[in-house]
Amino acid sequence: MAEFDYDLFVIGGGSGGVRAARISATHGAKVAIAEEYRMGGTCVIRGCVPKKMLVYGSHFAEDLHEAYRFGWDIEGAKFDWPRLRDIVQTDVDRLEGLYAVNLGNVGVEIIEQRAVLTGPNEVQLADGTKVSAKYILVATGGWPAQAGCPGEEHALTSNEIFHLEKKPENIVIVGGGYIANEFAGIFHAFGSNVTIANRSDKILRPYDQEIVGRLLDISVAKGITYRLNAPLEKIEKNVDGTVTVHFKDGGPSQTADVIMVATGRVPNSGNLGLEALGVDLDKSGAITVGDDNKSSVDSIYAVGDVTNRVQLTPVAIREGHAFADSVFGGNPRTISYDNIPSAVFSSPPIASVGLTEDEARAKYGEHIKVYRSDFNPMKNVVSGRDERALYKMITQGPEEIVIGIHMIGPESSEILQGAAVAVVGKMPKKVLDDVVAIHPSMAEELVLFK
Ligand code: FAD
Repeated sequence: MAEFDYDLFVIGGGSGGVRAARISATHGAKVAIAEEYRMGGTCVIRGCVPKKMLVYGSHFAEDLHEAYRFGWDIEGAKFDWPRLRDIVQTDVDRLEGLYAVNLGNVGVEIIEQRAVLTGPNEVQLADGTKVSAKYILVATGGWPAQAGCPGEEHALTSNEIFHLEKKPENIVIVGGGYIANEFAGIFHAFGSNVTIANRSDKILRPYDQEIVGRLLDISVAKGITYRLNAPLEKIEKNVDGTVTVHFKDGGPSQTADVIMVATGRVPNSGNLGLEALGVDLDKSGAITVGDDNKSSVDSIYAVGDVTNRVQLTPVAIREGHAFADSVFGGNPRTISYDNIPSAVFSSPPIASVGLTEDEARAKYGEHIKVYRSDFNPMKNVVSGRDERALYKMITQGPEEIVIGIHMIGPESSEILQGAAVAVVGKMPKKVLDDVVAIHPSMAEELVLFK
């Protein structure tokens, strides 16, 4: 008889857990995965995927408005939030089903229940069943931070925002990170009055602040209100169903249909039985793991947002894959956290890889060069839209090694993915200079920096 019920028990059917389960099974392991909500996790069910679909929906606002100047008469265009919401949710259902099928195809057992750890090799399911496994992988993700003030229960988070009954006329979005700025662009395009309230005067901290400044200028010109240095005092629910948010900045309170709090995500490590087993957590509640994703207990590993290294889907997926290859594939390997490209799907989007100008200066002093291209995309020239794109490239040393690329402008996330190769590959700028431009395009600016 086998010593354990499973070789691997994965807790959490999100980006990291699903990849780890699938690859481990492909390597021959007997695997079970427990998911307490919906298979696919945050990214598929209430994160990247439905968000990006809403971003696509939001683009029509400006395109329809500008269609006239491209020769099109569009009469009677109007926006129907419930229709978009429901179509997006139908696709989320489809993807959820695909995840289950793909796991089933490689023999992973799916357990639709909450699971907690009751021993270094033991897990208890919500129905009371206990199972054993040689290894346990915790991939329970993160959870939206709450407002942290009286009345926080009256605010929504990204968990609920995809299911709104109707489009808000007025929405206050609390936070200055990528989720706050993305939803500001989405709801503004749908016709809501949008205010971003942030407790400090800095938004999108990890991004190049000149690029962020351009987003601020464009967003303010569009009509998005930024209320900076405005920590929350309390949130109140009114009899008419609206919500009023009071700030500690001494300024006026603000009433809206929806207050959305997007102030970060905390590791989902509570009530899992981790502390009792001696699994080390850091101050934020994240499971502390080594490069090999192993926790302080030999049989317990963790990947993804619950480890709070880099909270992005492709990172969770890579960690899950590296875990499976290392533990079951006979190929011990780690992943690199350097130069991870990322995007903010704001309007217009930001994309970035490598060191920002401030970081590069702090690290290399005067031994850097900053190239800028500040241009009006051709489409905007026809449409009359006043939104200049800004691309920056940062090089270091006499060889001019490309150490950072930062962009704001249409399609920047699509354009940056390829350009990130230059940073990850530590290429000299000359290699990019040698590339013939694709003309006319916005991307050509990347090989024409002077
Ligand atoms: P998750 O995907 O969160 O999965 C964890 C799963 O574990 C969940 O399904 C949960 O229900 C389950 N679970 C928790 N506890 C238990 C338990 N005890 N028993 C059973 N199941 C349990 N990332 C990007 O790269 N690009 C983006 O554009 C992007 N946009 C985002 C937009 C929003 C609004 C949000 C909220 C996130 C976004 N992210 C984005 C981040 C991305 O979703 C996460 O980094 C990613 O999902 C992390 O994967 P994970 O496997 O660590 O956890």
